[in-house]
Amino acid sequence: MTEPTFTPRVFSGIKPSGGLTLGNYLGAIKRFVGMQGEMETIYCVVDLHAITVWQDPAELANATREVAAGYLAAGLDPTQSILFNQSQVAGHAELGWVFNCVARVGWMNRMTQFKDKAGTNAEKVSLGLYAYPSLMAADILLYHATHVPVGEDQKQHVELTRDIAAKFNHDFGTAFFPITEPVIDGPATRVMNLRDGTRKMSKSGESDMERINMTDDADTIAKKFKKAKTDPAALPDTLDGLAGRPEARNLVDIYAALDDSTPEAVIAAYQGAGWGRFKPALADLAVAKLAPISQEMSRLMNDPAEIDRILAQGAARARQIAEPILKQTYDIVGFLRS
Ligand code: ATP
Ligand code: MG
Repeated sequence: MTEPTFTPRVFSGIKPSGGLTLGNYLGAIKRFVGMQGEMETIYCVVDLHAITVWQDPAELANATREVAAGYLAAGLDPTQSILFNQSQVAGHAELGWVFNCVARVGWMNRMTQFKDKAGTNAEKVSLGLYAYPSLMAADILLYHATHVPVGEDQKQHVELTRDIAAKFNHDFGTAFFPITEPVIDGPATRVMNLRDGTRKMSKSGESDMERINMTDDADTIAKKFKKAKTDPAALPDTLDGLAGRPEARNLVDIYAALDDSTPEAVIAAYQGAGWGRFKPALADLAVAKLAPISQEMSRLMNDPAEIDRILAQGAARARQIAEPILKQTYDIVGFLRS
């Protein structure tokens, strides 16, 4: 059997499960923009994933538009990238079901994000939260995507996607699905919580003080960095000096990512600096980078019809790619089409 070659294609998404954070921006959106133009790019607002935990229906549509506004404001261009929300393309749920029958319960039981999110309440969370990674595999493979830019927290789910593709291909004696590459690079693939440097910054985290929201104003950003947990020591002369100092390392990494620089260069510029100097510099940099984006987001949010139009057009383009792939999958599985 000759191995098919797959057109290089990027797929990734963000859940409309709350307001966008600096983690989403640096770990995902900024990198999505960087890949635009390099190859075909498909970026989704994954609303089917959002409802794995309760979402107020009145809020969900708004949160969906806000993620889309974040994409557009940060520089994703709907003429270059396909931008849409997942629930408008039925193939995600349909292929997701097929993959629920390919993925093994034992694989799902190893997913650390489920363990984190379910916590001590695992019996009471939705079945969707447990099955989420198999829907994520469908999101990616519905487009035969070859590259998936994600934050470090999603690495295990992309690896599961590869396992699902490989098992499907093996079980059905085909080479139909690509073995997708996770793309996890740059200084901010895991932006940490500002109050606890061992936990990731998340949209759905408990306290607003633990994250920078993309829509926070300058005063709020300055206040949150000022109150961010740190140790008392000054910044060291070399990056090695940040070992065992997760909060300090996080702020240096955030600075580097915002400045398109490297942690080494940030340390070289600020060696010996105390927090009284570094934190205000970081806040100024964050405001300089985020303010234009948040202003554009609020302009876009004042015109929801325009966002909806862009998402509808993106969904139509997404369906054109997805439908033949789903049809072929159904043929491979043996579903009768009469
Ligand atoms: P939730 O708390 O609802 O899971 P989230 O902030 O984790 O929200 P997701 O929608 O789950 O956001 O993830 C969207 C993208 O953002 C993924 O690629 C994920 O890896 C990336 N991402 C999320 N948080 C961070 C972070 N702290 N640092 C870097 N990347 C992140
Ligand atoms: Mg998440």
